[in-house]
Amino acid sequence: MTKQFMQELISFMQQKGFIWGPTPEIYGGLAGFYTYAPLGKMLKNNIENVVRDVFFKNDFLEVECPTIMPKIVWEASGHLGGFTDAMITCKKCKSSFKAEQLLQELFPDKKITSFESFLSKNNVKCPSCQTIFDSKVEQHNLMMKTVVGIGNEAYNRPETATTTYLEFLRYYDFFRKKLPFGVFQIGNAYRNEISPRQHLLRTREFTQAEAQLFIFKDQKNNFPKFDNVQKDKLTFWAWELQSKNKKPETISLEDAMKRKFLKNKVYAYMIWLTHKIFLEIGIPEEKIRLTQHSPDEKAFYADDAWDVEVNLNSFGWTEICGVHDRTDYDLKQHAKFSKTNMEVLDEQTNEKKIPHILEIAFGTGRLTFAVLDLNYDKKSEEEGKTILKLSPKLTPFKVAVYPLLKKPELTALAEKIFTDLNAEFLCKYDEKGSIGKRYLRASEEGTPYVVTVDFDSLEKKDVTIRDRDTENQVRVKISDLKETLKALIYNKQTFVMLNKKL
Ligand SMILES: [Zn+2]
Repeated sequence: MTKQFMQELISFMQQKGFIWGPTPEIYGGLAGFYTYAPLGKMLKNNIENVVRDVFFKNDFLEVECPTIMPKIVWEASGHLGGFTDAMITCKKCKSSFKAEQLLQELFPDKKITSFESFLSKNNVKCPSCQTIFDSKVEQHNLMMKTVVGIGNEAYNRPETATTTYLEFLRYYDFFRKKLPFGVFQIGNAYRNEISPRQHLLRTREFTQAEAQLFIFKDQKNNFPKFDNVQKDKLTFWAWELQSKNKKPETISLEDAMKRKFLKNKVYAYMIWLTHKIFLEIGIPEEKIRLTQHSPDEKAFYADDAWDVEVNLNSFGWTEICGVHDRTDYDLKQHAKFSKTNMEVLDEQTNEKKIPHILEIAFGTGRLTFAVLDLNYDKKSEEEGKTILKLSPKLTPFKVAVYPLLKKPELTALAEKIFTDLNAEFLCKYDEKGSIGKRYLRASEEGTPYVVTVDFDSLEKKDVTIRDRDTENQVRVKISDLKETLKALIYNKQTFVMLNKKL
């Protein structure tokens, strides 16, 4: 798989109405900007709603902050100074490349620590015009600048997190001065990437989902929620294992603590919560691993940092999410730059202090790409048959309703059934084209069940339900149809079980 698979997947997304772009296509497209077409937008919404649901059920509340903030905020956060990528520009053809990505593509087996010395020693050529690079590596800032009002310099946020931190004192009051508490945002962010070329995995405008837990330092190992989840097993690739060329290990959170892979209970819980989201989205456990950052990779203020990686068919193991212990760094910085006291009372110790922040951060576009990548199943070239094996929770439509033929008696009954079912869950009615073609379309869109009204339906008052994955059909009384579909869609019953029972 890989490159060919990726091209197929991207053209599938374009043709079937999941992702269009780079946008605006009629003007040639601007790299790193994509449109979520109707089915893609429905899928992304469903994914974001699963994310919301997991956060809500674990006591995080949602906020929405502005996407534009004044310059001083980004000076305080460090983004204006240090949020950069190393860039190489070809002197001859003027193409610019992100150094890390370019060298990784050209020399996949090498671990390059200094781009500049590597370039000068290895006569690396520009992929566009084959001239040997002789320019210096420059630092390219990823912030997108804008102007607010008359000449006030401001920036589009490169993540939601900073905008979340700024309301800390408000949360403290809202949560009745009791820590720990959690909030999250799902919203757009912008990064001026040098040359984004990995479809939804790296875009210049994207939706971030980020959760923050605010907690006093001495509460980090006194965190009762950990006790409920400590037996759950996850796959850890701790730095200790990576540095000794050892494989990831699947062990319980409790054991990960004992082996010192994880530093404290609250961090272990945040790792668990992140993993839970990925499972709820329907990503198979064996395709998920947690990879710890090396000490050099980690930001200087971070206490610990792990990535959630997913094994994609197109790109292999790919970072989809980060979990970071940011300590008290951010609130201290904003306290300093805003000249606002961010210390709050810790009732346990009766001291005033600045809490720590633990953070989960990922792009929901990346997650959408991962879901499409892992569920795209091209059955056969000749038949042009493709199944998108999405969980019913995520599919744009839950049920398609078809009359076998476009005959008035069949369409009348099918429309009636459609109206009834559509009140319960989102359905799609289609009467155009052969029934075979319509089944194929439903499978491509991921629709798990198709209800077909045929001539027997008129007399016997029953219809068929066709299962997307097995392609089997069962006949069900129209009077039982809604309850049967509810049981299937909300995972109370499997199609195989239903098939046996009938
Ligand atoms: Zn060139």
